[in-house]
Amino acid sequence: MSKGLPKRSEDYSLWYNELVKKADLAENSAVRGCMVIKPYGFSIWEKMQAELDRMFKETGHTNAYFPLFIPKSYLSKEASHVEGFAKECAVVTHYRLKNAEDGSGVIVDPEAKLEEELIVRPTSETVIWSTYKNWIQSYRDLPLLINQWANVVRWEMRTRLFLRTAEFLWQEGHTAHATAEEAKAETLQMMQVYAYFAEEFMALPVIRGRKTENERFAGADDTLCIEAMMQDGKALQAGTSHFLGQNFAKAFDVKFATKEGGLEYVWGTSWGVSTRLMGALIMAHSDDNGLVLPPKLAPNQVVIVPIYRGENELEAISVKAKEIMAALRSKGISVKFDDRDTYKPGWKFAEYELKGVPVRIAMGPRDLENGTIEIARRDTLTKETFQLTEMPVEEKISALLDDIQTSIYQKALTFRNEMTTEVNSWEEFQEVLDQKGGFLSAHWDGTSETEDKIKELTKATIRCIPLDRKEEKGSCIFSGKPSEGRVYFAKAY
Ligand code: AMP
Repeated sequence: MSKGLPKRSEDYSLWYNELVKKADLAENSAVRGCMVIKPYGFSIWEKMQAELDRMFKETGHTNAYFPLFIPKSYLSKEASHVEGFAKECAVVTHYRLKNAEDGSGVIVDPEAKLEEELIVRPTSETVIWSTYKNWIQSYRDLPLLINQWANVVRWEMRTRLFLRTAEFLWQEGHTAHATAEEAKAETLQMMQVYAYFAEEFMALPVIRGRKTENERFAGADDTLCIEAMMQDGKALQAGTSHFLGQNFAKAFDVKFATKEGGLEYVWGTSWGVSTRLMGALIMAHSDDNGLVLPPKLAPNQVVIVPIYRGENELEAISVKAKEIMAALRSKGISVKFDDRDTYKPGWKFAEYELKGVPVRIAMGPRDLENGTIEIARRDTLTKETFQLTEMPVEEKISALLDDIQTSIYQKALTFRNEMTTEVNSWEEFQEVLDQKGGFLSAHWDGTSETEDKIKELTKATIRCIPLDRKEEKGSCIFSGKPSEGRVYFAKAY
């Protein structure tokens, strides 16, 4: 099974594409850039959704749903917003097909032209703020804290399964507040929720930062983000949280009566993470044998594979396996017993390695005799024989799952630290970017011109200005002009 996977060191990009397909996560569809998320991939996404949704609710948000189509005139109301998204919009112009008169098939009925063209939502600020106008009149209606789980379409030219697709699944939070301070606090809070999710559940260390003006969301006054490092030394934007100022309130005329009797525009935020997180999860931890999943997001945390000859042996092993399953489930551990006789144990081992199941238990007739099981962990590919009388099996496995979760986080963190280099000259910048990649922590003069120039010359962009950056005056690695502190540059997905 795993033999079919290319090596990361030889062709990282091919390795990723093959892994996504072979591990049954997703595949390309008839429409370029649109993917089919397969059941195994979708069950990981569902686990992500469940945790995120729980956190959104704990922070006071509720879910709602807004339409897929946006009138074209709405999108144009916020000037920089439409400018940012115009190049990626799918537009609906007609609402009917008809048979061609020459019998050549079905054509668009020219008589069924829409009066106003519709945009398939690339993001929902416009349709939501046009609705908020009716929902918000007074300070008593604020804050309004809403999230939606939906699909969006951005007609991307260079696509890659999960990381960048033309249609993707995501959640988008859209909140409205009475003051700028409150909206800014919300923007920060949701970025922190994303960072916590990435680190605690995905075992993915992230840098919390602020986007430069160039990289800011179209229509936002400020964009906070979390940035992660992939195994090939490229960065990935894993989540964004935007402070929208009063931009959308002004575009859609959303005002509220203040406590003091005045009338003011509402302050807004929006924030989102997408199925790109699946790509991040895969790229951050997996190896040449297949997926490595953090236990907290693995659809099956444990798989039990019986090793037997004949029905009698299987029956005896099954009895013990069921006892173990009941014990594990009592601790909330998800476990699957694979007693299919259509595949050999060796095939199953390779299959579960490919699928990233964190813990594999194997049991044969000799184990039954000795009261043992063989426990293998996916992340390190190490095995041990466990004596069942040593301690309750559920405690053993539970501790092991915790250990795997922290180990893969530590491994990713060590890697990211190794892949973060402070550079102090333009020569050094180019050399490190070329030879090593990763994050380059460097001084920048704060101008868009310098940022553009560096991007043009090297393809590296400023991933973020870290929120915890040290105060350190210096001079820009490119222009030599004064700099307020270091920012992170990287080539990115
Ligand atoms: P944005 O609305 O541009 O701030 O993006 C919100 C989230 O969606 C970010 O976490 C992005 O990383 C992610 N995202 C943006 N474009 C795509 C895409 N084409 N495919 C998958 N995820 C995307």
